[in-house]
Amino acid sequence: MSIFDTLTLKCPACGKPMEFDAVASVNADRRPDLREEIIAESFQGQVCPACQAEFRLDPQMVYFHVAKGLWISVYPVSRLPDWPQLEQQAKTTFALAFGDRAPGPAKQIGRTMKPRLTFGWAGLREKVIAADYQLDDVTLEMAKTLLFRALDRPPLSPGTEVRLVALDGDNMEFGWLELVTGKVVEILTVPRALYDGIVKDPAPWEPLRKDLTEGLFVDVLRLYIVPAAAAAAG
Ligand SMILES: [Zn+2]
Repeated sequence: MSIFDTLTLKCPACGKPMEFDAVASVNADRRPDLREEIIAESFQGQVCPACQAEFRLDPQMVYFHVAKGLWISVYPVSRLPDWPQLEQQAKTTFALAFGDRAPGPAKQIGRTMKPRLTFGWAGLREKVIAADYQLDDVTLEMAKTLLFRALDRPPLSPGTEVRLVALDGDNMEFGWLELVTGKVVEILTVPRALYDGIVKDPAPWEPLRKDLTEGLFVDVLRLYIVPAAAAAAG
């Protein structure tokens, strides 16, 4: 089931209250239209009836698509520094819905699903399209580290992220995005061979695969974003 909650929010432009159907859960098997909107980057966009400003609500939901083996807990980008706690929460949520603590039939389905945690619309879109292209999301994150190495500058300056935006024949297109706005700063096109090379020779990548799959937040950002709790402790 896809679930929406009606919220009253203030328009970020004019401050007038407006009603918004905020998504809590997307079942992509039943609602392929919502999945298409996520890919088209229009999902949860709304126009303020008072001032006509357009904006998009930050995601805080669970997205699941049994046919593709996807179960993804999504939080706003502003929650990134809390990833260790949210990873634990997502683990529990998945266990209850489709994992060890779920009823028999759901547990059965859950065996075919990969639970994940991600942040922001771009993070969700990347996981969704990677599954469409039949790319392994762990290998995809490893390919990003090769991309960083090939670039003549620091890989991730604070406030930026790199997301796969398209696979076009033998080329992969990565977007360099501003974390907060999701705005594309630059598109980097790299040969798909970057990814395929890792698939062909996985042994040297085992340590990194282990680091990336330690929890549900399968993302190079987990290697770069210092958790809020650790930052506070100095
Ligand atoms: Zn407004």
